Amino acid sequence: MKNEDNAMLLRHTPKEVKERKALTVNPAKTCQPIGAMYAALGIHRCLPHSHGSQGCYAYHRSALTRHFKEPVMAATSAFTEGASVFGGQANLLQAINNIFSVYEPEIIAVHTTCLSETIGDDIPQIIAKARDEGKIPPEHYVIHANTPSYVGSHVTGFANMVKGMVDYLAAKNGHRTNRINLIPGYVEPSDMEEIKRLAGELGVPTIMFPDTSNVLNGPQTGRFSMFPAGGTTVADLIAAGSSMGTVALGPLASGPAARALDTKCKVPCEILNLPIGLRATDEFIDTLRRIAGVTVPDSINIERGRLVDVITDMHQVFFHRKVALAGDPDQLISLTQFLVDLDMWPIHIVTGTPGKKFEAKIKEITKEVPHPVNVRAPGDLFLLHQWLKNEPVDLLMGNTYMKYIARDEDIPLIRFGFPIMDRVGHSYFPTVGYRGGLRLLEKILDALLDRQDRDAPEERFELVM
Ligand code: SF4
Repeated sequence: MKNEDNAMLLRHTPKEVKERKALTVNPAKTCQPIGAMYAALGIHRCLPHSHGSQGCYAYHRSALTRHFKEPVMAATSAFTEGASVFGGQANLLQAINNIFSVYEPEIIAVHTTCLSETIGDDIPQIIAKARDEGKIPPEHYVIHANTPSYVGSHVTGFANMVKGMVDYLAAKNGHRTNRINLIPGYVEPSDMEEIKRLAGELGVPTIMFPDTSNVLNGPQTGRFSMFPAGGTTVADLIAAGSSMGTVALGPLASGPAARALDTKCKVPCEILNLPIGLRATDEFIDTLRRIAGVTVPDSINIERGRLVDVITDMHQVFFHRKVALAGDPDQLISLTQFLVDLDMWPIHIVTGTPGKKFEAKIKEITKEVPHPVNVRAPGDLFLLHQWLKNEPVDLLMGNTYMKYIARDEDIPLIRFGFPIMDRVGHSYFPTVGYRGGLRLLEKILDALLDRQDRDAPEERFELVM
């Protein structure tokens, strides 16, 4: 039953779709620095620094805090009118000096904002000046990424900061180690942990960067720690230049860093889809196995077998159910493939991150789906809602902002992606790997079967499903 009476924020969304060129309504993305700040938190003893006004920095921190339910430490250049007119060099120089003196990080990761990008501040020149003036202690580092928010999205910002780690830190030391670099993509701390665990099961020594596990999903200890225990060490980021290879997960979020490492240090890379779902996880495991020359242990085969077992046991529930998705491109590509492999029909797919390749890729994945498929990059949640009014679905998957559509159209919503501000679990339980696939299946089944139970007439209310 639709919530006509309760419809509030979205009651003006019309069914008729009109092409818009210069207006986004309810965007399916957020701004670049949020991704850059998230990536920087994946370096051990790193303080992210927002080069712009306090308003931007407060927003970036609160967006991450709302999603992870953890305090997010960062600093700001605190632009005022003066910096906005004359540039932010003096602010950043003083900030670098203060931060190393007061908070004692090992590294500062500076990202720009719309304002400092529009002014045109030359961050590498400012960092060089800070080093010349002795504001950066020996064996300490300042890296940066340009993150103008009027292009790309939080995923672009993440990718730029991860590439910054390579550009500033990765170095060849003359001989190759047997380690493999893993660039996990813009995924949850739980996912990063799971990717490391799978590599460990295979017996492959790795360097993962960035690594936010135990930073943004750490335990309650009763004591505040400015720099939590997790994160990739600077020493490992430097050593990544001597690894035997790189496996980058998610072409958009991890591809630029992997290619930069190949160019700078001649570390060959393989760029894969995020290991979400059966097929993409198979590809990840097989790539690691091949590069490292190891065999896949029984423990991983058993995990895979369980996933296949649930898919076959419950196939009748998945079969030809229609789904609408919104989120980030790397996640959506793997998730769409997984849903198609389950015999589900993902028919409306929107990402706020621009990219023509995304639309082509989704069309390729869904070409066997016997139903028209709408896909848009960049699109917004307003458009997705309009598509839903014209062609309803059985299930929504996307971030917290989708809950308004779910309420108005009375469609179950599985929270997936970024940000999730009204539920917990995402930072503790992975959706990558075979175990993550099982978790996704459980969520999909719970949503569909709960709805079936709710709507079933008495005579068709089943005990065994
Ligand atoms: S001004 Fe730009 S950088 Fe700052 S919060 Fe807004 S979009 Fe993000």
